[in-house]
Amino acid sequence: MNTRHDGIGMTSQRTRGRLIERLRAQGIRDEVVLAAINAVPRHIFVDEALASRAYDDVSLPLGFGQTISPPYTVARMIEIVRDGKPLDRVLEIGTGCGYQAAVLAQVARKVYSVERVKPLYARAAACLNELKVTSVTLRYADGNAGLPEMAPFDGIIMAAAATHVPPALLEQLAVGGRMVLPLGAPEQSLCLIARTAQGYRETRIEPARFVPLMAGKA
Ligand code: SAH
Repeated sequence: MNTRHDGIGMTSQRTRGRLIERLRAQGIRDEVVLAAINAVPRHIFVDEALASRAYDDVSLPLGFGQTISPPYTVARMIEIVRDGKPLDRVLEIGTGCGYQAAVLAQVARKVYSVERVKPLYARAAACLNELKVTSVTLRYADGNAGLPEMAPFDGIIMAAAATHVPPALLEQLAVGGRMVLPLGAPEQSLCLIARTAQGYRETRIEPARFVPLMAGKA
């Protein structure tokens, strides 16, 4: 462990405890998700200058015009995808800083995460490496295409908003699988898409605020 962990160690564990209580108060019920949030030091994923705000329930700037999702959003999306059941293979679109991927790694056997901004991809890789998270595979690519060579996925989480679901992602969702993503512009809703043998069922969950899903790599 390096000094970045040591200096903030105890404080961060206590602060994370308070974060868990806030998430409970905001309605997060899945104990497995709460334990996963409790296990991941969020300050590792944010700029050192912002580390003191790492456990506040706010979006924080990531650079490149992107933001790190607030813990509530991360917890809620994972809770919806999990639906109280263990996850095997999960795909995340929009790695950003890698925080959500690290939390997902606590609840899924294998996580794939795609990011289109190269420096973010590289920074996320360094953070996950620092935390010795080995069950996450990162890809620098346009998430609109999903990750066909690794499909199907029993969970898909998209961390950027689109006006429609990228068709490749629908195809790559396993039968019985669940996808959660923000849909709509300018007003966004967090939506669940559940795939059954009969087809796809879409449910709007709650209002959302995400950065837009972009096309191509940067
Ligand atoms: N999961 C992150 C949230 C990142 S914000 C967290 O833990 O905080 C959304 C991310 O989606 C940004 O990093 C942005 O660059 C990325 N993104 C936007 N469009 C994309 C696309 N087409 N493919 C892959 N990533 C994309």
